[in-house]
Order: sequence, then structure tokens, then C-alpha cells
Amino acid sequence: LIDFEPTEEQRLVLGVVAELARTLLVPRLRDHEAAGAVADDVCRAAHELGLGTMLLPEDAGGEGLGLGTAVLVEEELGRADAGAATGLCGPGAFGLAAAELAPDGERRRALLAPFAEGVRWGAVAWSEPAPVREREGFATTAARDADGWVLGGRKRFVANAGLADRYLVFAQIDAERGWRGIGAFVVAAEAPGLRVGERHDTLGLGAARFGEIVLDGVRVPDAARLEPAGDFAAAVTRFFAKHALLTAARAVGLAHAAFELARAYAAERQAFGKPIGHFQAVAFNLADRHMDVESARWLVWRAARAWDAGAPERTALELSALAAAHAHEAAMRTTDDCVSLHGGMGFMRDLVAEKMMRDAKQLALTGSTAEQLDQLATAARLGGALEPSLLWPSSDAQPVFL
Ligand SMILES: Cc1cc2nc3c(=O)[nH]c(=O)nc-3n(C[C@H](O)[C@H](O)[C@H](O)COP(=O)(O)OP(=O)(O)OC[C@H]3O[C@@H](n4cnc5c(N)ncnc54)[C@H](O)[C@@H]3O)c2cc1C
Repeated sequence: LIDFEPTEEQRLVLGVVAELARTLLVPRLRDHEAAGAVADDVCRAAHELGLGTMLLPEDAGGEGLGLGTAVLVEEELGRADAGAATGLCGPGAFGLAAAELAPDGERRRALLAPFAEGVRWGAVAWSEPAPVREREGFATTAARDADGWVLGGRKRFVANAGLADRYLVFAQIDAERGWRGIGAFVVAAEAPGLRVGERHDTLGLGAARFGEIVLDGVRVPDAARLEPAGDFAAAVTRFFAKHALLTAARAVGLAHAAFELARAYAAERQAFGKPIGHFQAVAFNLADRHMDVESARWLVWRAARAWDAGAPERTALELSALAAAHAHEAAMRTTDDCVSLHGGMGFMRDLVAEKMMRDAKQLALTGSTAEQLDQLATAARLGGALEPSLLWPSSDAQPVFL
């Protein structure tokens, strides 16, 4: 019916990624977490393999490999270390957003080619510390003047804040038009008025950096505003759905790793003369978690395939949201049970189980929350408006579902 066997090209890519994961990520998992960053030599190796840019269009210096390959790669990286996978160099969310929002090939190339040339990070800033109370939309504003745009506001939770040399910033252009009055602007890290605020001290994903950025009268030219050829809201929604799908693939890898750890322990740890995996309570639990891992993986693959195969947009959006919501729940259950199954050992830092659980929780909040994803999935199915507000930080005035 649907063939999910990896192609020859995907096998090759996966082989290379698995080797990097085995040699550079797994053995240095605690070092990366303690350092709060992925080591320079690991970033260089990942860059040389083209890991960060493989999804980018070929005309922008990428491999144009498609989401089907990207989810396999993310899964492999997440299996090794979800934290390092999140903190690795590359355009990341910036690349995905630019691919959706940049109007033409030339513009896209100018934005993304530098990522293929050197070790760099990109970032996208949407979350804000203070939601707008009196209207829909962002508190961060973009005001038009004779030379271009002036941006002002504060963003938080931004992945790669302080590392990125390019930020894509969402801001309110027209307050009257609520979520329909927003725009996306590319801002260079060195732009006068852009300041990197506090780095957030996080529960998990310690090798990745999250922080605030402050925009204080940042001037950008007209060309910094990204406007897709079609509907802006639709392009933004596609970006968030694809972003959620790639994060979900990482969660599948993490869930798989936790499941394997739990299964190995259940086969080895003895109680009353037999391995604990032979007691029904443990056996049932392992079987349930195995179902979680497999079902999440297949949903993620199916959604990626829908995008690559040019399925109707609503279908691809719905499948992505379902896959992401399920993958995060699966990763939470699997890592939690992995800790429990190890008994007292589970929460010791000698073992990786506790880190997996922390990473899973944080991964689940990256980008879109479970509630936001559920709203998108149902809106896509019911035929309602697919506003980005379904996926975005709430404000008091956010329209409640449809
Ligand atoms: C690891 C990580 C990486 C991130 N990376 C970035 C990044 O690169 N750039 C960036 O800008 N942000 C980033 N974020 C922020 C992330 O996108 C937001 O935390 C997320 O969208 C939720 O928004 P919020 O924190 O404002 O929560 P809120 O919107 O305040 O939501 C609080 C709770 O209410 C629920 N909720 C909100 N609205 C509704 C509703 N209408 N119906 C039902 N429930 C609702 C939410 O699901 C959540 O449980 C990141 C977060 C994490 C944890």
C-alpha cells in the first residue's frame, strides 16, 4: 500500500549520520550537556556532512532531500542525544521558515547560502514574554518609515539566541488586523539595536541554547521583509507544521532509545529468580511502550511522505499535527516508564534515563504545544480557517478554536 522502505540514497545518508551519532554524540552526551553546547569539532563534522542544510532547496546550497529523509535523520540524531540534536549548528528553523516565506529563488539563496559555506546557526523568534492583552497578535512591532522598517520588542525562548547570525523575527505590522497583520523580518545578529538577553536555564536539552532577544529600534531595509508568493498565513502555518514534524521525529528517536534501554534492563535485572521482564506488569508495560514508539514513527513517516508526495495541504497539516502530538506523548510515556523501570537507578545521573525524561518534556514544548497541535489537526479536518494563531503563543484575545 505505502512503501516505507528507505531508498538507497536514504540508507547512505543514514549510515553516515549513524556513524556521527555513534562516535561523536553518544560518547559525549554528558559533556555536551555540562558544557551547554555541542563541541566545535562535532559541529564542524556535522557541517561537513551537510546535516543542517540537507533539507534546504538545492538552489540555496542545500541537498533538497525532502522531509522523508529529514525525519529519518532527526530520528537517528534524537536516538543518540536529543539535546545535541537540537543544539547542532545549521539554519534549523530559520531554513524551514525561509524556504516557506522567501518569495523567490534568488532571495532564498542569499539568505541560506551562508549556512552551506560555514558553521553557522539560524534562529526564528516568535514567542514573547508579555502577551498582548487588548488585541490579537504580537507585542513586537514593525513600523514602516522612509528607509524600510523599524522593529521593537522582546522575544523569548528563542532557540540559538546568541549563537545565530541571522534571526527571523515575527512582528506586528498592522495592529488592527490581528494575526492577519503580522510580518516576518530577517535581522542580522550584528544589527544595531538587537541585543541578546538572558540565556534560559532549562530542564532538558542542555546542549542547546535558548534565550531572549531584545529589539530596540532595529532598522532593516524593505528587502528584509519576507513575503511568500501565496497567502502569508498559510505559509507560516506550513512552517510551524513542518517544524513540529521534525521535532517529532527527534522525539521518536528519543522514545526508541528509552525503550531499548528499558527493554535491556528488563532482560537483565533479576527479581525472585527471573528477569523482571518476565513479570506481567513489566511485560505489558514494555509492549505498550513498544506500540508507542512504532505508532509514533509511522505517523511521522506518513506525514513526511504526505508533504513530499504533494498531498493536499490540509491532509499534510493534519497528519503533521497528529504525528507531533502523538510522538511527544509517546516520548514522555516511554522515557518516564524507562526511569520507573530502572527503580532507584532510574533517577541516578550514572544512567541516561533521567536525561531522556528531561529532554522529552522540553522537546514536547518546542514550537507548538500538544494543545496547539490538537487544535491544528482538528481545524484541518473540520475545514475551519487555518490561522497561525492556532499554533502561536496565546494572547487574551486569541480566538478560541475556530
Ligand atoms: C525547547 C523549546 C524550543 C523553543 N524554540 C523556540 C524558538 O526557537 N523561537 C520561539 O520564538 N519560541 C520557541 N519556543 C517557545 C514555544 O514555541 C512556546 O513555548 C510554545 O509555543 C507555547 O507558547 P507559550 O510558552 O507562550 O505558552 P502559552 O501560549 O502561554 O500556553 C500556556 C499553556 O496553555 C495552552 N494553550 C495556549 N493557548 C491555548 C488554547 N487556545 N487552547 C488550549 N490550550 C491553550 C498551551 O498549550 C500551554 O499548555 C521554544 C520552546 C521550547 C520549550
